[in-house]
Amino acid sequence: MILRRVIKHFRNQEWTAIFLDFVIVVVGVFMGFQVQQWATNAGQRVSETNYLDRLHGEVVQLTQDRFRLIADVQENQSALTSVVAVLQNQTDRQTLTDTECEAIAESHIYSNPTADLPTIAELLSTGRFDALQAKDVRSAITQFNQSALSGGDVIDAVNRNILTLARVFPKLIQLETIRDEKIEVGIRTGAQCDAAAMKTNQGFMNTFVDNRDRYAHFAVFAVEPVTESLALLHDALDTELGIIHNEVVATP
Ligand SMILES: [Zn+2]
Repeated sequence: MILRRVIKHFRNQEWTAIFLDFVIVVVGVFMGFQVQQWATNAGQRVSETNYLDRLHGEVVQLTQDRFRLIADVQENQSALTSVVAVLQNQTDRQTLTDTECEAIAESHIYSNPTADLPTIAELLSTGRFDALQAKDVRSAITQFNQSALSGGDVIDAVNRNILTLARVFPKLIQLETIRDEKIEVGIRTGAQCDAAAMKTNQGFMNTFVDNRDRYAHFAVFAVEPVTESLALLHDALDTELGIIHNEVVATP
């Protein structure tokens, strides 16, 4: 119809009308593209919200999964600090508690709390990560990935050539199996320590200080940065998705 009108305007040499026809066509095409673009953007936005929703669920689950492991790391850190006080004569106490002795026996064990978030891996592998509109979430994901990666490097480093104190010094630490129905496997490892003999054995003291130093690096440089960046990612997701938690998500 517009074509017929344009031909008529040309025949009659109505230049103002021809110009107006031209403007109508251009504006029409522009509006068509714009509407299509809005529809595409709206579709992408819905898809992004679905991804962020899924990621939020994984972040909440991971925070809860890490809770027990992180609490163990903090307990071991605290016990190893009080062991130092006893073995280096910084306190009047001459013996070690069961918790302190078990912390020495386990000072070579780094229970690496998982840091896997499958949605992040999917966003990266499908190239959708760069297209994320939520800038704060994008930078929080980058920070989380970096801390998880460098945390893995720290764990590799502290594990190199580490010694199991109970194997190297069996006269100073005796391990035993203790039945414990409260835990899933039903048994746990107990330990007996000879604090007086430990103090006078320089080989033991050197190895213990080395293990204790590695454990501190593990806690401070491998575990804590991941915990902090996970909390930041959670905050960014809550803000982006408008989520308000009635209960605080468990953090140690
Ligand atoms: Zn949340």
